[in-house]
Amino acid sequence: MARLIDSGPGCPTPTPLRAETAAQARGLAYDDDVKAKTDHLYPLVSDFITPMEWPAVAPLVAAINDLKAEKNAVILAHNYMTPDIFRLVGDFRGDSLQLAREAAEVDADIIVQAGVHFMAETSKILAPSKTVLISSLEAGCSLASSITGADVRLIKERYPDYPVVTYVNTTADVKAECHITCTSSNAAQVVEAVAKEWDTDTVVLVPDQYLAKNVAAQTDIRIITWPGACEVHELFSADDVDALREAHPGVVILAHPECPPDVLEAADFAGSTAALANYVKDESPAKVVLLTECSMSDNVATENPGVDFVRPCNLCPHMKQITLENILDCLIEMKHEVTIDEPVRVRAKEAIDAMLALPKMANPLAFETGLKPMEIEVFSPS
Ligand code: SF4
Repeated sequence: MARLIDSGPGCPTPTPLRAETAAQARGLAYDDDVKAKTDHLYPLVSDFITPMEWPAVAPLVAAINDLKAEKNAVILAHNYMTPDIFRLVGDFRGDSLQLAREAAEVDADIIVQAGVHFMAETSKILAPSKTVLISSLEAGCSLASSITGADVRLIKERYPDYPVVTYVNTTADVKAECHITCTSSNAAQVVEAVAKEWDTDTVVLVPDQYLAKNVAAQTDIRIITWPGACEVHELFSADDVDALREAHPGVVILAHPECPPDVLEAADFAGSTAALANYVKDESPAKVVLLTECSMSDNVATENPGVDFVRPCNLCPHMKQITLENILDCLIEMKHEVTIDEPVRVRAKEAIDAMLALPKMANPLAFETGLKPMEIEVFSPS
């Protein structure tokens, strides 16, 4: 069962615990100049960083924001970043699709991806002339590492007549082998569009078996998938939903479609991180729980102060590799540049472009809840 916390931030924000020594080690002090640059930012994170901790965090924030201006750099901050990164140094915030669109359009020389490695690759695919940096090479993803380009070639050999859709949570090598990408905001739309284009009733959707099963429950298209899973979302269970309803009568339960299908069956609403954030903003439920990565709850909570949040505490160990300290070091040293072989980048971009060419939806698609989980074929290489 997932760990749940009834009040306060879902998980400790890691930076303040280390920031005092981190700022001092870099010769940074909480002086009048730093105060002038950061005092207005503190209210954005006052639920997560105490007044005692702030003098240790503020010098890092000021130094990063100064360097961004000096180097014409922007930070793309994913929803799963801790609030200090998300609110204080992120120039663009959102889910992977929103950030990918920003990467393509932003007028900057340098992109620092505050997210995991496949997201930085996606930025590089769409913005090849920009320098893309990631502050930790340890920021991987269990979904991205579950499948390779060679695996996709094997799938295409076995099923030459079916289009292969890849969730964006994959490497550039995998995207380059697939026909189109999708996100959790548009997966059902992409599956139906590509089935129509190929005049087929069957689509391969990799690598997340739970997303694929949840999409299969929403559409008449037959789906074949791959045995990958998000190590954060697969921890949630229908038992968690029952326990939450018992402990918090009336709580509204929102689930991400990377959760197992029985979680979506039991939840009140399901959708991508953007859909979950929109739901909380539009519906203002009295009490809510988001069954997704814990910093997401923290970040949505800062924007909805009137909503009472029960916090899940499943953090992504890969996302948490990104810290204020290593963002600063990465910008100072210009290290961990993301590069992709040009032929691979071009083919991966074709898969992303195929998705971006579909009609733009006004809002991310919600997943219907209450549906019986569907068994679908999971590809086996043997
Ligand atoms: S939350 Fe899951 S899908 Fe997202 S980066 Fe972490 S392991 Fe990957």
